[in-house]
Amino acid sequence: MNEQPGNTPMFQISRLVKEFNSVPAVNDVTTQIDRGEVVFIVGPSGSGKSTFLRCLNLLEEPTSGEILFKGDVNQFRRHVGMVFQHFNLFPHLTILENITIAPVKTGRSTRKEAVAQAETLLRRIGLYDKRNSYPLQLSGGQKQRIAIVRALVMNPDVILFDEPTSALDPEMVKEVLEVIKGLAHTGITMALVTHEMGFAREVSDRICFIDEGRILEDTTPEAFFSQPSTDRAKAFLDKVL
Ligand code: ADP
Ligand code: MG
Repeated sequence: MNEQPGNTPMFQISRLVKEFNSVPAVNDVTTQIDRGEVVFIVGPSGSGKSTFLRCLNLLEEPTSGEILFKGDVNQFRRHVGMVFQHFNLFPHLTILENITIAPVKTGRSTRKEAVAQAETLLRRIGLYDKRNSYPLQLSGGQKQRIAIVRALVMNPDVILFDEPTSALDPEMVKEVLEVIKGLAHTGITMALVTHEMGFAREVSDRICFIDEGRILEDTTPEAFFSQPSTDRAKAFLDKVL
C-alpha cells in the first residue's frame, strides 16, 4: 500500500531522552524502525511506552537525543498516523465526517476523493452501513475500527497504535486486532504498544521490551517469548502470559 523508494529507516532514534520534572520517562533509547516493519513495544505500566510513541509523533518534545523520520529531523509528521486507546472521535460528526474531516481540511484530498476512499475502507472493514451514524450509536470495537480508518485515510507512511484494545470489552478485542493484522500484511510500517501478548507474538517482526524508560530487549518475537535474556523481561512475561 505504501511502498517507498530507498531504504532509509522510517525512524532512526538516537539516545532519546524525555523527562518530566527532571524524571526520565524515556531514558537513552537508541533503535530504529525500518520501512514495512511491524514493531511491538511491550513492558510494564509506567515504563515509558506511550511517551516513546508520542515522541515519534512529535506530541512530546524530546529532552535530548534525536529522532529522524525518513532520514530527516524536520520531516513533517503528517505522514504519521496514530490510534489511541480512547478513540477520540468527534461526537457531533457522523462516521463519514469523522473520517473525511482531516484529509479535506488539510487539503490532502478533495471532499469527493476523501468520501470515496472512506467508503472503500468502510466496506473493507464491514462498517459501510454505519457511515451516517454518530459515534454514540457504535460499539467500542466499531469506534476503534473507525479510528483506524480515520488514520488510514491520510495515507500515512506509518501508524502508531497506543493500546488500541485496552479500553474495549473483551468480546470486541478480536475484531479490532483482525483489522490491525490485515494492515500488517499490507506492508505499512507500524509501531504498537499492547498488552495482547499472543497477538504480539503472532504479528510482530520485532519486539522492544521497555522497562523504566529503557529498551532492555530488542529482538525477534521467537527469541523474546521463548528465551527472554533479562530477568525483567522474564518477570514481566511470567505475569502477563
Ligand atoms: P506507559 O505508557 O508505559 O504506561 P508512560 O509513557 O505513560 O508509560 O509514562 C512513563 C512515565 O512518565 C510515568 O512515570 C508517567 O507518570 C510519566 N509521565 C507520562 N506523561 C507525563 C506527563 N505529561 N507529565 C508528567 N509525567 C508524565
Ligand atoms: Mg501508555
